Amino acid sequence: MDAIEMLRRLVAFDTTSRNSNLDLIDFVRSYLAGHGVDSELVFDHGGAKANLYATLGPKTAGGVILSGHTDVVPVDDQDWDTDPWTVTEQHGRLYGRGTCDMKGFVACCLALVPEFLERGLREPIHLAFSYDEEVGCLGVHGLIAHVLAHHPKPRLCLVGEPSMMQVVDAHKGIRSFVTTVTGLEAHSSATHIGVNAIMVAADLIRFLAGLGDELKARGDATGRFTPPFTTLSVGTIHGGTAVNIIPRHCQFVWEYRSLPGTDADEPIRRFEEHVRTKVLPAMEEKAPGIAAVTTMPRSITPALSPDPGSAAETLAKALAGVNDTLAVSYATEAGIFQVHGIPTVICGPGDILQAHRPNEFVAIEQMDACVTFLRKLADRVCVN
Ligand SMILES: [Zn+2]
Repeated sequence: MDAIEMLRRLVAFDTTSRNSNLDLIDFVRSYLAGHGVDSELVFDHGGAKANLYATLGPKTAGGVILSGHTDVVPVDDQDWDTDPWTVTEQHGRLYGRGTCDMKGFVACCLALVPEFLERGLREPIHLAFSYDEEVGCLGVHGLIAHVLAHHPKPRLCLVGEPSMMQVVDAHKGIRSFVTTVTGLEAHSSATHIGVNAIMVAADLIRFLAGLGDELKARGDATGRFTPPFTTLSVGTIHGGTAVNIIPRHCQFVWEYRSLPGTDADEPIRRFEEHVRTKVLPAMEEKAPGIAAVTTMPRSITPALSPDPGSAAETLAKALAGVNDTLAVSYATEAGIFQVHGIPTVICGPGDILQAHRPNEFVAIEQMDACVTFLRKLADRVCVN
């Protein structure tokens, strides 16, 4: 099966992150089994989703991880010209949800499996396909933990997120949180007894805005990022029931995206300190034992830090035939592999500008470039 046919098969599975990805995983597992390759599945808590890890070649230490996610973002409320779950070829482009982000890369890896095996691997190639990347890189943590617990550490990792086959060695990290404010309900005329959860939340958000301004003013010494600073944003807010009731409840979801090499704990630490020293004491005066502000982490995606001369960077540059590396503004699973001590860079087919949009596509030329990249990898890790 060539890469484009493989892509057709993968896109046909609606693996929107809210759905199970097991049909796709079963398909990949039986495809690999057909080539004599065993797969290891690492399930989520509910058992409805799984990561897949498979090793081609010798079960020795080292090896190259080819990593991709199996989930895609929703097509809800998007105006598509074609069926998003059917790959449609037009003017050298393959349209469909996930073609670019990032079933194109996964398809190229799978299509090359027979070639890797026939040429005889001297060093293992590991396929690492995760779930729930698009909702905060949730699945890959279990995958990496499984690999490090049961196998010798791989030598390096290539994450095939869309980069137009350029080598990306840096991205920002993301932390997201849910903050819940619990106040004290009262008639809206009785502001002297009620604790207004929405107004407390507004105070907290004003604090975050100030923090965001401060992070912006610090800028980016490397000059590689757009925008050139750590960003902070509140995404949703819910609270209150009626205008004449002092609201008891307000919840907001927020995130920040830190530049690599900066203290990613600082914003949450300062937020918690503000809550503890300034906000809570005032609330507790009126509602002791009831008033509360709790902040729960939603997701943690570490930044990818440049690691010049790393095994991953050196290999990817040689395979892609490029001399430079890029920094990108989107986040990936790459930083998670890196914090576990596995040198990692990003290189994959397609343009991130096409991702997450209606009429997502990958250019056939990009698929070809990825196949060429993987064949060059075979030249390095195979006997023949
Ligand atoms: Zn992606």
